[in-house]
Amino acid sequence: MLIAGGGALGAALAVVLARAGPRVTLADPALTGANASGVAAGMLAPVFESLFDAGPEALETLRGARDLWPIFAASVGIDLDRTGAMVVGSEGELDEWEARLRAWGAAGTRLSPIQTQARSPWVVGGLDGLYTDEDWRLDAKSALRTLYDAGERAGVRRLAVCVEGFEPGCARLVTGETIDADILIIATGASRNLIDIAPELGTLTPIKGHILRAPSLLLTGPTVRFEGGYICPAGDGAIIGATMEFGRDDAVVDPGSVQRIRNLAAPVLPAIATAPFTAAVGVRADTPDHRPLVGPSATPSVWLAVGARRNGWLLAPMIAQAVGRGVIGGDVEAVFDPGRFGG
Ligand SMILES: Cc1cc2nc3c(=O)[nH]c(=O)nc-3n(C[C@H](O)[C@H](O)[C@H](O)COP(=O)(O)OP(=O)(O)OC[C@H]3O[C@@H](n4cnc5c(N)ncnc54)[C@H](O)[C@@H]3O)c2cc1C
Repeated sequence: MLIAGGGALGAALAVVLARAGPRVTLADPALTGANASGVAAGMLAPVFESLFDAGPEALETLRGARDLWPIFAASVGIDLDRTGAMVVGSEGELDEWEARLRAWGAAGTRLSPIQTQARSPWVVGGLDGLYTDEDWRLDAKSALRTLYDAGERAGVRRLAVCVEGFEPGCARLVTGETIDADILIIATGASRNLIDIAPELGTLTPIKGHILRAPSLLLTGPTVRFEGGYICPAGDGAIIGATMEFGRDDAVVDPGSVQRIRNLAAPVLPAIATAPFTAAVGVRADTPDHRPLVGPSATPSVWLAVGARRNGWLLAPMIAQAVGRGVIGGDVEAVFDPGRFGG
């Protein structure tokens, strides 16, 4: 069994499949984390992702995905940060967000400006807040390494190479070599380079995202979110994100995008205006209905696990288990059917 792509989805899938028995090879030229999974903020955030991006219809799926994390994380050795998350803003903004969350059954705890600062003293004074213990976080870079290690312990073979072609029984690598593979699982993120094998990849569109890391900003408390951005207090400095640049798939750091992130965060964390930082870029994969493509391709013996948009880390155990059930048990779930857009 060959998995093309070693991001969060491919790496989680490799562990799940290898533990179930089959011989698994994970191929990716960027096994160093130079992909969307490696740069991500690592939020496992069903509530605030529903509020700011996915909408109420996604909440239960995202909650279900988060609920798979504690057992999965413990089984591979990933640490989960369950400090929670807080959204901050003007009183009017908080009134509106609180009303929406309350209507969806995800109310959280409303905080006055004094209570907001008590939770996160580094947040500028005068902002209202709303805290939820439902949204968690992990360290994406180290989580990816941990998944590779867990895969290795389960017998996964890793190859730092691109997959180029496939027919049942045999896959062709970009080096010209061929390897045995009864099934190919495509977990290549926003890339469409295997579209000749799986036409469903044609429905993917890229969303480029810039994200900043400021090692000198050693913050504590929950992840803080606001209109257009977030600040995660990570152990090795604050993570500040992120842009959504629709239709772009290049990896170039653009000073204008970097400045937009700093401008949005400065009213919450003024120190971002002067703190040293590094900027990184990742490309998310989107679909027409913003839900992933998970399941068999129209091409025999080919499966897909792509299109996780802003929630690849959150969805990783759910997608890995769904593909595992399908590939090994023949139990195909219709909810993320890769063929749902036809054509
Ligand atoms: C700035 C930013 C912040 C984010 N923050 C969060 C967050 O807080 N929480 C969250 O859940 N999600 C977040 N995301 C989204 C998340 O990163 C993605 O949804 C997730 O990483 C997708 O994982 P993936 O495995 O599908 O793809 P990727 O991580 O992109 O991995 C795909 C891999 O496939 C490889 N590949 C491509 N073609 C081939 C081939 N032919 N053969 C072999 N390998 C190939 C690539 O080299 C790459 O390593 C963020 C994304 C960005 C950009």
